[in-house]
Amino acid sequence: MKIGSLTVDGVRRAGLVHAAEQSITLLDTTVDDVVRGGPTGARGEVLPLSQVRLESPVHRFNRDVLCTGWNYLDHFEESKGKREGQGPTEMPLHPTFFTKGPDTVIGPFDDIAYDPALSQKWDYEAEIAMVIGRDGRSIPEEKALDHVFGFLVANDVSQRDLQRAHGGQWLKGKSIDATMPLGPWITTPDEVDLAGMQVQCEVNGVLLQNASSAQMAFSFARIISELSRGMTLRAGDVVLTGTPSGIGSAREPQIFPRDGDVVVTRVSGLGELRNTVTLTELS
Ligand code: MG
Repeated sequence: MKIGSLTVDGVRRAGLVHAAEQSITLLDTTVDDVVRGGPTGARGEVLPLSQVRLESPVHRFNRDVLCTGWNYLDHFEESKGKREGQGPTEMPLHPTFFTKGPDTVIGPFDDIAYDPALSQKWDYEAEIAMVIGRDGRSIPEEKALDHVFGFLVANDVSQRDLQRAHGGQWLKGKSIDATMPLGPWITTPDEVDLAGMQVQCEVNGVLLQNASSAQMAFSFARIISELSRGMTLRAGDVVLTGTPSGIGSAREPQIFPRDGDVVVTRVSGLGELRNTVTLTELS
């Protein structure tokens, strides 16, 4: 199942996405309710995808978006010596975790807010995200995937100078409003090839990130297992799983998207996000 979110006549609705037919069947419920175990409801009108504007599939956040850092070895290596003396020099033995505020979240085709007065170093990070579908704490790795409702695409847009300026932390620089596209819909695990997803990011048509989920240092199951140790994960929680190499700040010369640039974030089997970086007064 692929399930997306849209607003029809002022009411937020879920829809079953038929990617091959490029259509969506409206449902008498919301994605937030379905993720939490609610029924998918009665089927309604079928609309062409080209005639609707999909929104972030998730709207009701239990808490911050949970995120994984350095989960692709090549990304860890590319940033070595470029973290301005901050951060470890050896790949950690456990996943690195941090969070992003829910106000970062935008829809799959919305503009990414950009304010050069706030940061000169807006960067992109294509990632696979998971939505938790069943509550659990200290979840064993072998049962971890039973807690996943589905997978979707995210871009963990970051402001590198804000990360550095405030002590090498991961709050400022990861939580600027309206900067993280999420979507375009949620694909349930039965339709996902866990080790065969290709994660890509393009800026203005130039492919800058391109890696397989098989290159992840910590598996989806390991992330859930370690993250949930002593800490309850709840249905509706969103978990990002890390970005591969190719980020703008690690390139020579560096690439930092600016006003008008088009960022496409794509994961094979999950769909793509298409967002324009757009001047927005945030400061
Ligand atoms: Mg990231």
